[in-house]
Amino acid sequence: MRPGAKVDLASIDTRSHDGAPGGKEETEATFPELIARLEELQERLWAEREQSLLIVLQAMDAGGKDGTIKHLFRGLNPAGSRVASFQAPTEIELTHDFLWRVHQVAPRRGETVVFNRSHYEDVLIVRVHNLVPETVWRPRYQHIVAFEETLAAASAHVVKVFLHISKEEQAQRFRDRLEDPTKRWKFRLGDVEERKRWDDYQAAYTEAIERTSTKHAPWYIVPADRKWYRNWAVSQIVLETLEAMNPQYPPLTDDLTGVEIV
Ligand code: AMP
Ligand code: MG
Repeated sequence: MRPGAKVDLASIDTRSHDGAPGGKEETEATFPELIARLEELQERLWAEREQSLLIVLQAMDAGGKDGTIKHLFRGLNPAGSRVASFQAPTEIELTHDFLWRVHQVAPRRGETVVFNRSHYEDVLIVRVHNLVPETVWRPRYQHIVAFEETLAAASAHVVKVFLHISKEEQAQRFRDRLEDPTKRWKFRLGDVEERKRWDDYQAAYTEAIERTSTKHAPWYIVPADRKWYRNWAVSQIVLETLEAMNPQYPPLTDDLTGVEIV
C-alpha cells in the first residue's frame, strides 16, 4: 500500500494468485530456492549486526498467521531470529503505555523478528470492543507511525503484512478446526463472537492500514485464502526487503595474515 492510498479490502480478491510463478504445484516447487536465498540473506544480516528486520503479521482469526510463521522459519536460522506473540495485555502491561511491551521485544541489530499480532491490536480489537474511548485509541495511529519511525531511525526495516481472507474462508477454517482433533485447541468460543463483528474489524483494518502505511514501514495486503500463495507472497516480500537491505559480512577486525592453525 502506497502511503496515503485509499484501502478497499472488499475489492481485493482474497483468492488471487497474482504474480505467482504458476499454480500450487509449480509455485511450491520454487520454495526450496526461495528458502535457500532467505537463509543466506538472514545469515548475512546476523553476521553484519548493523540493521534489523521486523515483520509484523496481522490477520483475522484463522487468517493464517501461524502457518505463515512456520513457513517463513523454514528459511530463518533460530540464531538471530525469533517470534514475538501478543496476547491480551496483562495487568502490569495495562499499567504502561501500549507500546511499552512492544518496544521491549523489537529486534536488536542483526535480528529478524516476526510479530504474531502486534501494537496494531491496540487500534483493532481495542477499537472494535471499545476497550478504551476513541479519544485514547485514535491518537494511537500517530503514536504508531512515530514509534515505527523511531525503529527505522535505529536501522530497523519494518514490513507489515495483513493476511486477507474472506469471511467464507474463515468459516471453512473454523469448521476444520472443530472437526479435526489436532486443530481443535486453536478454536475458542470467543472466535464465534468476534466473527459476528467481521465488518467492524474490516473497517478497523482499513483505517489502520490507511493511516500507518509509510515509506519506512509499508503495509502489504496479501490475498490469503490460498495457503500456498500466501506462503509464496510473504516469502517474496521478506526476500525483497532483505535484498534491498543488502547485508554484508563484516570486515575482519583482526589481521589474520600469516595465521597458521597447528
Ligand atoms: P491468539 O492469537 O489466538 O493467541 O489470540 C490472542 C488474543 O489476544 C486475540 O484475541 C487478540 O485480539 C488479543 N489481543 C492481542 N493484543 C491485544 C491488545 N492489545 N488488547 C486486547 N486484546 C489483545
Ligand atoms: Mg485465536
